[in-house]
Amino acid sequence: MNDASKDTTPTPKSTPNARASEASEINEAAARYSESIPIKFRNLYLKAVAGKASPRQTIKAKCQECVGYEEVVSRVRNCSSLICPNYAFRPYQERSQ
Ligand code: SF4
Repeated sequence: MNDASKDTTPTPKSTPNARASEASEINEAAARYSESIPIKFRNLYLKAVAGKASPRQTIKAKCQECVGYEEVVSRVRNCSSLICPNYAFRPYQERSQ
C-alpha cells in the first residue's frame, strides 16, 4: 500500500459555475472545429457534441467524422474495422433479409 492510498483529503467537487464554464469551452471548441466540417454534416456533429443527439445519431456523427466526411455511405457501410466499438452499430449497413 502506498501513501497515496491513505490520503483522505476530500476531492474538490465541481461547482455549477465550473461545469458551466467547462461546457462553454467545449461548445466554443466544437463550434470552431465544426467550421471544418462540410455543412451537410455539421448540425449532427454539433448536436452530438452538445449531448442532444440520440446514441444512434452520435455513433453516426462519429462514423461520418471517422471517414473524413467523404464517400460517407460507402466507406462506413464497408468499414472493416471489426475492433471498433461502433462497428456493430454503424449506420448505412445493408439490412439482411
Ligand atoms: S465503425 Fe468504422 S467508420 Fe464507424 S467509427 Fe468505427 S472505424 Fe470509423
